[in-house]
Amino acid sequence: MNTLAQVPVEEGLFTGPAEAPQLIGGHCADCGGWHFPAQDNCPHCASLAVHRTPLSRRGRLWTWTVQTFAPPVPPYRGDVEGFMPFGVGYVELPEGLCVQGRLTVADAALLTIGMPMELRLEPWHVDDQGRQVMGYAFAPLAA
Ligand SMILES: [Zn+2]
Repeated sequence: MNTLAQVPVEEGLFTGPAEAPQLIGGHCADCGGWHFPAQDNCPHCASLAVHRTPLSRRGRLWTWTVQTFAPPVPPYRGDVEGFMPFGVGYVELPEGLCVQGRLTVADAALLTIGMPMELRLEPWHVDDQGRQVMGYAFAPLAA
């Protein structure tokens, strides 16, 4: 059971914590392009007419790999001594953009390019104020 206060790894990255969290993307009113994470100006056409919009929770696994060793600290803030491999990949959303993120599984036998995925929030690490930092990850959907 986790009784720590939860904070997002970065404000404005996703909705929640909630049962159905969504990443917050940017949608450009001028060119129609999408991007994630949301920023003030459109990376496609530089317009400032960007609206922060929740993205679809489900998409398809575009590609993936498994991180089998602890990344350099910083930027990695997780447990180096007790490091556990994790999956990382790109998920293509219906909006037409690919989002990079962790995967909830690190077993190659459970991952296939093109498989349906769904967004989850998961605990990443405890910060120096004793709060549980929450990040996002994509989980395979049962067929
Ligand atoms: Zn644009």
